[in-house]
Amino acid sequence: MQELTHYMNGAHVKGTSGRFADVYNPATGEVQAQCPLANESELDQAVQYAMAAQPAWAAVNPQRRARVMMKFVDLLNRDMDKLAEALSREHGKTLPDAAGDVQRGLEVVEYCIGAPELLKGDYTDSAGPGIDMYSMRQPLGVSAGITPFNFPAMIPMWMFAPAIVCGNAFILKPSERDPSVPLMLAELLEEAGLPKGIIQVVNGDKEAVDAILHHPVIQSVGFVGSTPIAEYIYGTGCANGKRVQCFGGAKNHMIIMPDADLDQAADALIGAGYGAAGERCMAISVAVPVGDETADRLIEKLVPRIEKLKVGPYTSGNDVDYGPVVTAAAKANIERLVQTGVDQGATLVVDGRDFKLQGYEEGFFVGPHLFDNVTPDMDIYKHEIFGPVLSTVRAKTYEEALGLAMDHEMGNGTAIFTRDGDAARDFAARVNVGMIGINVPIPVPLAYHTFGGWKKSVFGDLNQHGPDAFKFYTRTKTVTSRWPSGIKEGGEFNFKPME
Ligand code: NAD
Repeated sequence: MQELTHYMNGAHVKGTSGRFADVYNPATGEVQAQCPLANESELDQAVQYAMAAQPAWAAVNPQRRARVMMKFVDLLNRDMDKLAEALSREHGKTLPDAAGDVQRGLEVVEYCIGAPELLKGDYTDSAGPGIDMYSMRQPLGVSAGITPFNFPAMIPMWMFAPAIVCGNAFILKPSERDPSVPLMLAELLEEAGLPKGIIQVVNGDKEAVDAILHHPVIQSVGFVGSTPIAEYIYGTGCANGKRVQCFGGAKNHMIIMPDADLDQAADALIGAGYGAAGERCMAISVAVPVGDETADRLIEKLVPRIEKLKVGPYTSGNDVDYGPVVTAAAKANIERLVQTGVDQGATLVVDGRDFKLQGYEEGFFVGPHLFDNVTPDMDIYKHEIFGPVLSTVRAKTYEEALGLAMDHEMGNGTAIFTRDGDAARDFAARVNVGMIGINVPIPVPLAYHTFGGWKKSVFGDLNQHGPDAFKFYTRTKTVTSRWPSGIKEGGEFNFKPME
């Protein structure tokens, strides 16, 4: 049994708390490693290292800090296959999907190479008589990030790359379910030239999170995960005077208008609903066809596509569409919610409940499910299922469909499929959701834009990555300067003998 470590001050460090979490291979159901769960004093040790290292790193000029990111990009590309394999082994997602997880993180690292430009600041010459005014962006000091299991490469990189390139030290508390890739990323950053103590990985659970939230030195906390924990971390972190941004859960609706290309819409729903076993915060979990005829035709097109889905372990290579879910508890929760859907009267059109994979009977595989005639009062509509379960809510009109997306408490992403520019434009303008796709099912913004939802999908104001990240990880300092008249008026310029 492999015992994983923390990564502190440039070295792998064994856990000393005596507490561990099991890390599974979700495909086989076997425990493959033990993840140490840090206590307060281990977290404090990391903070001490970070405090010692950060001032010198902040004094390195931005161009040189950016060069570390350049080198890090090279190393990520060099080790892409290795990282993807380690990620799939603990998470369960397919290898191409795991490489995508690394890639979407890498793209934010690339954006961070522009740090010298992004950190330049503002200058007003002669803001008053003889007065100049300038603003600069300075690092916060020690920042921390708490990340979810579902993107163990991408989300840590979305946090630590901008934090570090801005001159902060960063303590990452990754998900205890798949901590190996975050540890590998920390090693690669140091191989890229990052001084020790600037990136550290402290593994743990609530105890380590609470230690972060209460540590007086930690200036900012980034969180991505489920909504109840996001709300808790935002409240506690803010009450302790920290700068906090928290990104929570989702229930993403896709509206299918009667004029949509239904083959395109069905293909999009398959990828967005079942890809990564539905364990994506930008997954589509609710299909909203407008009109019964659209709904009937859509279901007709979805069923054969769903029945063709290949579910299996990542080791089967490109033959697999999606893998197992992350733990037995996640599988049990999905099955419980599916049962509530049946009990509350939804029509289970594709029933994945009896799914078994030969040779992997102990793995956490969940067959694909499709519900029709779902209504807003049902648990499968209200709650995030985070599994391969797509719910269809039939709407009579566009306004009713729009209202569903608007009235749901989550507001991460949404999409509309239509050939009508006017409907698409109206939808994008009015819907109270953060990321909108027009004939695009998973509208994840690229690195140079920003990522974030609305409503209960977010707590805080600034988004992830893009220019917002540079605001989140720096403080603005504004200097107003006036110099009294000096040497140019009263000074002696001629060489004279000593008087
Ligand atoms: P989670 O909330 O269970 O865990 C996230 C992190 O919080 C982990 O590091 C975990 O150790 C820690 N944590 C768990 N329970 C805690 C507690 N009681 N107190 C303090 N810390 C605690 O989420 P998850 O299951 O790892 O990830 C899936 C969730 O993340 C889904 O809800 C998904 O929608 C969401 N998510 C959101 C985004 C986004 O950008 N909005 C992106 C990815 C995932």
